[in-house]
Amino acid sequence: MKTREVKIGNITIGGGNRIAIQSMTNTKTADREATLNQIKALSSAGCDIVRFTVNDMEAAEAIPYYVENISMPLVADIHFDYRLALAAAERGISKIRINPGNIGDKENIKKVANACKIRNIPIRIGINGGSTEKSLLEKYGGPTAEALAESALNNARMLEECDFNNIVLSVKSSDVLTMTKAARILSEKCNYPLHIGVTETGDVRRGNIKSAIGIGALLLDGIGDTVRVSLTDDPVKEVLAAQDILFCCGIGGGINIVSCPTCGRTQSNLIPLVAELEKQTREIKTDRRLTVALMGCVVNGPGEAKHADLGVACGNKSGLLFRKGEIIKKLDESEIVPVLIKEIKELLNA
Ligand code: SF4
Repeated sequence: MKTREVKIGNITIGGGNRIAIQSMTNTKTADREATLNQIKALSSAGCDIVRFTVNDMEAAEAIPYYVENISMPLVADIHFDYRLALAAAERGISKIRINPGNIGDKENIKKVANACKIRNIPIRIGINGGSTEKSLLEKYGGPTAEALAESALNNARMLEECDFNNIVLSVKSSDVLTMTKAARILSEKCNYPLHIGVTETGDVRRGNIKSAIGIGALLLDGIGDTVRVSLTDDPVKEVLAAQDILFCCGIGGGINIVSCPTCGRTQSNLIPLVAELEKQTREIKTDRRLTVALMGCVVNGPGEAKHADLGVACGNKSGLLFRKGEIIKKLDESEIVPVLIKEIKELLNA
């Protein structure tokens, strides 16, 4: 289902807008220097929206400082205490993540909804196994996809009853199948923008794979308006992984490198050549997508290289350069990466 648009600070998500990359700081929010530095690092890495915990009034008091120093939309993550949500709304936050079901008293939910409504602040309802209502866990026999989705819709209804519908939903699980199924249920049942991600994935190696499968499966079906890769590591790595997942799903610009796995025919140092080309092409920021092939031999190499925008089929410590299927010239191995980078830049500027 096409989602409705929601404005988060200077970014609009949903309704077919660009999918935004989100991350979360792991510094103490009250520690202004550490948190500002981390938000800046996330911004430089390509993060679009950053969330931090607002776990006490000291954290809430720091919000104006971040608003003043950061143009990226800031999201306050709040659990249980509606007064912190009111404090964040009054201090310039762009979005609040809170589950109305955790606030308790209906009057207090209303106060939060009203504080957000008058300032056009959206609320994200974030459901996971831990926040799912006991009654739903009993009904479904645990934190199943159906339980998570129903919990999200129940929480949304609590805000709708306060005449509030500036809502983003997320249903996360550390189980990839549960998370994808829950998001698919929501995508069929409502048109609120969906924030997607696998949660509590572990370290970078397996966390990246879980996230790529879960987020990627949904993105390929057109589901998801913001993404977060969740890793037990530096959050900058979450942003880099999210960029790669989006790119590999065909979203956004960049240089797509096609390279062979090498085999007994390879007569050049393809592995370090590809690593260097990857490194240098990541620095090239573009909205366009170019495919650059770097192949290990002349058996399969020219065929692959010909279909790419640019390509090199390596021979013995050398390579044949192709541009749009045409052989341009023979290169010494040491020339391959610098010449490809020069050619990429020329194509992008053409
Ligand atoms: S392109 Fe050539 S070198 Fe690379 S894997 Fe295929 S046969 Fe081997």
